[in-house]
Amino acid sequence: MKSHAKAVVIGGGVVGCSVLYHLAKAGWTDIMLIERSELTSGSSWHAAGGFHTLNGDPNVAKLQAYTVQLYREIEALSGQSCSLHLTGGVMMADTPERMDFLRLAHAKGRYLGMDTELITPSEAKAMFPLMDETNFVGAMWDPVEGHLDPSGTTHAYAKAARKLGAEIVLRNRVVELTQEVDGTWNVVTEQGTVKAEHVVNCGGLWAREIGRMVGVELPLLAMEHMYLLTEPMPEVEEFNKSTGREMIGVMDFKGEIYTRQERNGILLGTYEKACKPWSPVNTPWDFGHDLLQPDIDRIAPSLEIGFKHFPGIEKAGIKQIINGPFTFALDGNPLVGPVQGLTNFWCACAVMAGFSQGGGVGLALSNWMVHGDPGFDVWGMDVARFGEWATLRYTNAKVRENYSRRFSIRFPNEELPAARPAQTTALYDTMLANNAVMGDSWGLETPLWFAPKGTEPKDIVSFHRSNDFGPIGEEVRATREKVGVTEIANFAKYEVSGPGSEDFLNRLMTNRMPKTGRIVLTPMLNEFGRLIGDFTIAKAGEERFMIWSSSAAQKYHMRWFENHLPKDGPGTSQVRIHRFDQTLVGLSIAGPKSRDLLQKLVDVDISTKAFRFMDFREMAVGGAPCMVNRITYTGDLGYEIWMAPAYQRLVYKAIKDAGEEFGLVDFGMRALLSMRLEKNFPTWFRELRPIYGPFEGAMDRFVKLEKNDFIGRDAAAREQAEGPKLRRVSFIVDAADADVMGDEPIWAKVGGKDYGTVEKPHGYGAPRFDADGKEVRGSSAAEGASAVRGIVDGDWRVVGWVTSGGYAHYIKKSMAQGYVPAALAADESAGLFEIEILGSRRPARINVEPPFDPSGEKMRA
Ligand SMILES: Cc1cc2nc3c(=O)[nH]c(=O)nc-3n(C[C@H](O)[C@H](O)[C@H](O)COP(=O)(O)OP(=O)(O)OC[C@H]3O[C@@H](n4cnc5c(N)ncnc54)[C@H](O)[C@@H]3O)c2cc1C
Repeated sequence: MKSHAKAVVIGGGVVGCSVLYHLAKAGWTDIMLIERSELTSGSSWHAAGGFHTLNGDPNVAKLQAYTVQLYREIEALSGQSCSLHLTGGVMMADTPERMDFLRLAHAKGRYLGMDTELITPSEAKAMFPLMDETNFVGAMWDPVEGHLDPSGTTHAYAKAARKLGAEIVLRNRVVELTQEVDGTWNVVTEQGTVKAEHVVNCGGLWAREIGRMVGVELPLLAMEHMYLLTEPMPEVEEFNKSTGREMIGVMDFKGEIYTRQERNGILLGTYEKACKPWSPVNTPWDFGHDLLQPDIDRIAPSLEIGFKHFPGIEKAGIKQIINGPFTFALDGNPLVGPVQGLTNFWCACAVMAGFSQGGGVGLALSNWMVHGDPGFDVWGMDVARFGEWATLRYTNAKVRENYSRRFSIRFPNEELPAARPAQTTALYDTMLANNAVMGDSWGLETPLWFAPKGTEPKDIVSFHRSNDFGPIGEEVRATREKVGVTEIANFAKYEVSGPGSEDFLNRLMTNRMPKTGRIVLTPMLNEFGRLIGDFTIAKAGEERFMIWSSSAAQKYHMRWFENHLPKDGPGTSQVRIHRFDQTLVGLSIAGPKSRDLLQKLVDVDISTKAFRFMDFREMAVGGAPCMVNRITYTGDLGYEIWMAPAYQRLVYKAIKDAGEEFGLVDFGMRALLSMRLEKNFPTWFRELRPIYGPFEGAMDRFVKLEKNDFIGRDAAAREQAEGPKLRRVSFIVDAADADVMGDEPIWAKVGGKDYGTVEKPHGYGAPRFDADGKEVRGSSAAEGASAVRGIVDGDWRVVGWVTSGGYAHYIKKSMAQGYVPAALAADESAGLFEIEILGSRRPARINVEPPFDPSGEKMRA
């Protein structure tokens, strides 16, 4: 074993081997993988080997599609077969709601370049004759599904990596990790110490233990998982013989089961409700090529439904039941990327579907390590997406919930109950007493809407408008016409201070920093000129800035801030960054009477000229020391008031008491989001993401190319000079009883006009490899994009996708935001659009000016 390596990958499961292969392919050959036993000594060896491309997050779905395409490549390079069976598969819907869900997934797939198809139960039965089709109302066919040999596939990655120069060390456990002052890692193993620049945690079932070696508790948990194998079945053999084809894979939502042909019999696996964590705190080091004791009672309810839906299987004898553990993060997606607060410590763990996702994970991570950027929008699997609140026990509750709901529909208005309440503000009980329906916002309980007194504060979950529709409308109207108050503790808040703070922020942000006492809005870009943040920044003092942004991006942004701190030498820093999290909380008041209300609570003049739109001031509100921004996300006259948590009840009570004479109402997050729609305001992670440039995102006025050499400036200047390919636009939609939820296709009657190819971007220019192994470079937004195939209907074409939307209650219209080709957005004569909502195409029109207060005079009043 060598004593130095550029990178050490810990763990020889499918994920570690994929990471090793991709690093070697990207040109890093001084790399080694260390495996404590033989390859596949964790979950990889007893996996069912199924793969598919569908994922709730379109960007993760894209990386899954890449994984499936990769298998031929590693087979060719390694000479090792993966035993690939590309059979295709169906998802079966047993209720109209589940069919709505499939329609949504299918609509999304259309611009992702997926060839999914909605089919009848009888058509599904023709490909899997063991089912009783009368149990179902419809199905979705996906040709890119199948199964493979897990062990062969892992070895194919490993052999291909070795061929490219990587070293693999077996039967050698990593026992300790320490770091030198210069950042070098000491990877202490049973066979000696390796000095490495980078360490990658691909420890699978032991990823938590490896995290703990560097003081990190990773939010993942292993769950027991069972699948059964039947004896050979004559029906299967007969089908194969008569059709010349293998039976397809089937996913049955109701039974929470998946099934497919395995040799001459059937494999059937369950995600049972009575699920069971395995090794909830520590994973034993002596576990390896072991299986767990099967527990048929636990999966009996799923089997009962399974046998009813697939009576052909019930008749077969069960040959074997496999029970093995594998790991999940809270939301079921992997944990990938550099861990905030550490240098060159990388994660590729909690990969619950290693054979669907392993390739994409390896590609994104190797890009990130080699080129400093994943090259794709990998937010959906970024290790930074969970906060400190994701403790061991919190994770345990959420993973069990996620597992037991693996095939359940998550409705757009559905809040999941496990591990809640976790964090609450001082107003939590008051909000409950006000009949608030609470939601989870990055681990914090936040009021969503207020149910009328005497009714149960509970969402009726649906894809259609639901019981919150009326009350949100009331909240919006009262706020727009009088005044409303809402809790905004869930925003991210930071303070950047020190003599270098202004230069630091000028280097990171696209907009000029404000003068003392003023506020600016500003995007943040990466080197490729893509959007990685959107901030509200106030200059609070000579060397002090207050910053607000999206709560979910707190660790993501802290990682970026820390990586870009000026290097002043050991122990000194010109810039200090503080993340408040819940040590600073907030309330927002908005509406035409909000100034009169606030004036009653403060002892300073806040008239129009004394406290202007976009001013920041520290002042006592209701007797509590606060920071006040004259700005609100409702787009109305309004204020954000920030205070230490100990003052929040005092300030809230003062607002409520003073507000009575003005008709003050409480409003929740959903009313806030409805109001932002009628102002055409974008949201982070929906409209604004790293796949879009600032001009595509219609953030032009916040980008000051001439101000200084900020990160991403050159790429942004290129985007502006060449003209953005896409453009964010806002639509008014003639919806029926359902509004858009995001990711719906946008159709246009383009006639003979050519507005360019429509492509949904996923990658954004970091050098990387395409599915054919060709290195791809450049900074085009369309790189890695999904080709839109065959989505033409007469003069109509799919020209874009929705990012978010909903009902704008004040203007009483359904609204949507999304991206279309810039040339089409600019061509006002183009006119005719349709947006596909739950499979039905609804007329829509681009709405250039915000329908509420287009001139901004109310906001500036
Ligand atoms: C019953 C069952 C069915 C499944 N079916 C499917 C399926 O159909 N499709 C699918 O995609 N996925 C399936 N999975 C999940 C799949 O197995 C996992 O997604 C995948 O194996 C994860 O791979 P990994 O490399 O992350 O982890 P692991 O396979 O657990 O590998 C981790 C490796 O790291 C090594 N290691 C750990 N700590 C150290 C250390 N300190 N030093 C050195 N080496 C170390 C371990 O020995 C191990 O070999 C299934 C899992 C189970 C249990």
